[in-house]
Amino acid sequence: MSEAIDLLRRRVADLHQELVRYGLVVWTAGNVSARVPGEDLLVIKPSGVSYDELTPQNMILCDLDGNVVEGEHLPSSDTAAHAYVYRHRPDVGGVVHTHSTYASAWAARGEPVPCVLTAMADEFGAEIPIGPFALIGDDSIGRGIVETLAGHRSPAVLMKSHGVFTIGKDAEAAVKAAVMCEDVARTVHVSRQLGEPLPIAQDDIDRLNFRYQNVYGQRPAAQ
Ligand SMILES: [Zn+2]
Repeated sequence: MSEAIDLLRRRVADLHQELVRYGLVVWTAGNVSARVPGEDLLVIKPSGVSYDELTPQNMILCDLDGNVVEGEHLPSSDTAAHAYVYRHRPDVGGVVHTHSTYASAWAARGEPVPCVLTAMADEFGAEIPIGPFALIGDDSIGRGIVETLAGHRSPAVLMKSHGVFTIGKDAEAAVKAAVMCEDVARTVHVSRQLGEPLPIAQDDIDRLNFRYQNVYGQRPAAQ
């Protein structure tokens, strides 16, 4: 067990550097967490520690109520939201939160990013939806994420006037969704400066999403 947790600590610490690499975070904002497979535990970033100082050792191990099980720092102030998602979505193995610029600009408008690019149809399969305005401190952010993404293909939600939360089968998938979310939020914003982006027919969105999610990519080698 402790070996699996050590691996996850390293993975989560490394994935935080991807948020920096793709320009999704400033100062200490943003966080990545991962569920410990088969356990009611999660690994998350410590609160208020700079990205340069994140190590596998200072990642925080919490239970799914957000209580610290192991760690010298306080966990991220968004831990309750991550824990709520893991409690209510057993299919989710990773959660990411950022205030990335373009996606948060859409969140500030309370406006979903429309699905007007094939890359969006691939990764999100729909618009990127808006979740409710919610204050930190109780379950309302977590509940807003879970309720907005229920029955939605998108792994990303823009919490109104706040920023991005993404989910994935593991932490890497959630980080990828956060990177792609910012990328398409930027491109659709630029497109809107040129005029109104053209819609993609729902049938085509469905086909693109199915192919990307089920066919695209490297196949396991034949036995
Ligand atoms: Zn935030």
